[in-house]
Amino acid sequence: MSKKQSICPAVVEKRPLGIYIHIPFCVRKCLYCDFLSMPGTNETIARYIKALCRQIKTEAPAYTDRRINTIFIGGGTPSLLSGEQLTEILQTVFEAFTVDADAEITMESNPGTLTAEKLCAYRKAGVNRLSMGLQSTENQLLKALGRIHTWEDFLENFYAARKAGFTNINIDLMSALPGQTLADWMETLRKAAELSPEHISAYSLIIEEGTPFYEWYGDRDDADGLGTNGQDADTDGTNGQLAASGWPALPPEDEERQMYAQTESFLNRKGYKRYEISNYAKEGFACRHNVGNWNRTDYLGFGIGAASLVDNRRFRVIADLERYLEYCLSEAEGGEEGCLGEDFLVGKLHEEIHALTAQEQMEEFMFLGLRLTEGISAKVFADTFGVPIEEVYGEVLQRLKKQELIVWNDQNQQISLTARGVDVSNYVLAEFLLEEEE
Ligand code: SF4
Repeated sequence: MSKKQSICPAVVEKRPLGIYIHIPFCVRKCLYCDFLSMPGTNETIARYIKALCRQIKTEAPAYTDRRINTIFIGGGTPSLLSGEQLTEILQTVFEAFTVDADAEITMESNPGTLTAEKLCAYRKAGVNRLSMGLQSTENQLLKALGRIHTWEDFLENFYAARKAGFTNINIDLMSALPGQTLADWMETLRKAAELSPEHISAYSLIIEEGTPFYEWYGDRDDADGLGTNGQDADTDGTNGQLAASGWPALPPEDEERQMYAQTESFLNRKGYKRYEISNYAKEGFACRHNVGNWNRTDYLGFGIGAASLVDNRRFRVIADLERYLEYCLSEAEGGEEGCLGEDFLVGKLHEEIHALTAQEQMEEFMFLGLRLTEGISAKVFADTFGVPIEEVYGEVLQRLKKQELIVWNDQNQQISLTARGVDVSNYVLAEFLLEEEE
């Protein structure tokens, strides 16, 4: 942790707040990616960091009653930044906010953009959790995804990260890839687990509209909506326009389901506990920032497209890079200190500002909280909303219980998904959307 990080003596009195910082730049766009990411020149990246720091300084004074318990630097590819650039961003946060001494500070990274020097600088700047986007250990599959790195690049970076002092590392993996077999997937899991990272995220590939994959593979939504883990399988077996394209086909639905089903048992045997639908961790290493999001702890987003939840208001930063740079770097807007005018945030930078209704808060409480293995607490629901959960969701809960998709523990009043409920989580979670209020 940096010496300049401010730690307030009255830290326990303040309410927790997470911070998300979006770095939208990547070397090039992966073929399946619909995240807010783009290539950026050195000059654009330097301007973006300046803009980001001004946004942070401008917003911080409104949060003096808060303590920052987690910081998540996501992307994009944050590891495109130099050590100095990353240090400047974190120093700005430390100086502008009250940050807990033991705050979890995560940074996403991609192999092919990391070096031993950068890793040491990131660690020194205060990053204490490194998330590495591996996706697959098979070079052929990495190529099919349009990734810029090989398995060997990743290995080199992983060992360098350990050497730089990272004792909390996540590896991101993806199943149901074009041309991937069950054996390929199990090999990826085996090789990743062998490295003994503290955390593994295992998502299924989602074919998103607007990506090259969508053009080639089409919409994989199935007919009954009971796809696995947010990833519904192609039902007609044509894989969209793929047959004619010469690209490898997506795995058939039954193979994809097997990949999904075998992930948990395999990772369990290796000492990883599932704590969320797609996330596994060794004891004590669940991602605190993401658990906060699923539990609806407030968080504040910086950088283009970054979402926030503050006091039951959701809003996001504009997604247009040019406008963001123009607004944040406008000399007319700021003074010597680099803060921006008072009207700046509401008038220009934040959009989609929405005060959640009580109904929307309850819906979020259910469909975010039930993603966690421990589920949600009926008691916390009643304390938060002033109404027993049975009064709002009695009929739905009874039905899902009968279908053995959820379990309600009478002793601790926790409600959670069963293994079958996790398999069809899209369907179960959607059941908690209430009818529109009049
Ligand atoms: S590295 Fe990640 S954010 Fe960047 S293009 Fe690939 S999938 Fe998208």
